Amino acid sequence: MNKKTKGVNTICTHVGEIKDEQFKGAVSPLFMSSSYAFQDVDVKRYPRYFNTPNQEGLAKKIAALENCEAGLIFGSGMAAISTAVMAFLEAGDHIVLQGDIYGGTYNLVVEQFNKFGIEYSFSKGMQSDDFEKLIKSNTKVIYIETPSNPLLKITDLKMISALAKKHNLISMIDNTFASPINQVPANFGIDIIIHSATKYMGGHSDMCAGAVVCSEEHINKIFHLAKNLGGSLSDYTVWLLERSMKTMGIRVKAQNENAQKMAEYLDAHNDINTVYYPGLKKHDGHEIAKTQMSGFGGMMSFELNDGLNADLFQKTLQLIKPSMSLAGVESTVLSPSETSHALLGAEERKSRGISDGLIRFSVGIEETDDLIEDIEQALTKIKNA
Ligand SMILES: *Cc1c(COP(=O)(O)O)cnc(C)c1O
Repeated sequence: MNKKTKGVNTICTHVGEIKDEQFKGAVSPLFMSSSYAFQDVDVKRYPRYFNTPNQEGLAKKIAALENCEAGLIFGSGMAAISTAVMAFLEAGDHIVLQGDIYGGTYNLVVEQFNKFGIEYSFSKGMQSDDFEKLIKSNTKVIYIETPSNPLLKITDLKMISALAKKHNLISMIDNTFASPINQVPANFGIDIIIHSATKYMGGHSDMCAGAVVCSEEHINKIFHLAKNLGGSLSDYTVWLLERSMKTMGIRVKAQNENAQKMAEYLDAHNDINTVYYPGLKKHDGHEIAKTQMSGFGGMMSFELNDGLNADLFQKTLQLIKPSMSLAGVESTVLSPSETSHALLGAEERKSRGISDGLIRFSVGIEETDDLIEDIEQALTKIKNA
């Protein structure tokens, strides 16, 4: 089943690299040309055709990590998501999406799909029946995200791919939170795998990029729309992303280990109410996560006890940064109620279990002793405030 020929870190480091024939340098040269020859060439190259040497090389690396045939690199995660989804939908079609989904994806659907005549439904839960009862005769795509943001809910990949096959749908996953290091959805039969490379692939909070990987057949369909929409990534950033990805395997493994330690520490803490982390046995999705993830990831969320101010807590941290994004080598926290889920409104957030005091924690590669010391000093200060 697994067609991977090399180890994960070898793929991260080497697959897709461009040989420097001219100077024999150790890393891929960067080709910044936005104009290439059209005569006597096999391929007419152009950045917006997604086929410059650096774009093609990096797409190979991500496809290899995801055990897929082909890929495209995009200018952002949302460029990847919007292009992939729209490639398989026409006016009159319907898409079923997981209810717990990245805010930007939710906004794309509710703000844009009506004008294209595309119908949509969001699931209320994550069980088979929650999805299946929404499928209609015009449903074409089923779209999920696991682990989800911010409560790290787990959706069963085998169940989704079985549903997709039964109803002849294209299955798509946003695999950003897990990264290909922890979860390879193609091995469970998911058709299209999408990433915000801004997160674990970039890993240093200094770039915005996206990627889609799948079969050759599906990538051709996505490419057809992608060249019309034009959401390609600058080759300079493609090259930086290739560099970042060489360390993705070791970064993410360090983050997995740190997150497990931090989740256990927070879970045992008297000042912490609830911890949501799929690596904890008591997490709702732990058993399914064990069957489809090789690591539980670096993301979690938690609530302080009643009476402790989450806003003040985050301001009082000295090492861990309150910050909008996630998945960098540095640890960050944020309040979903003020950021990713602000637009939902208080009622909707409450019904989804996202309290105002919920803190999302992206665990970095620092020593956990230092992270714990930081949390302890912040808790002491806010309790005495
Ligand atoms: C950040 C994120 C996106 C969007 O990616 P951008 O690079 O910001 O466009 C999509 N899905 C998930 C799960 C994300 O965390």
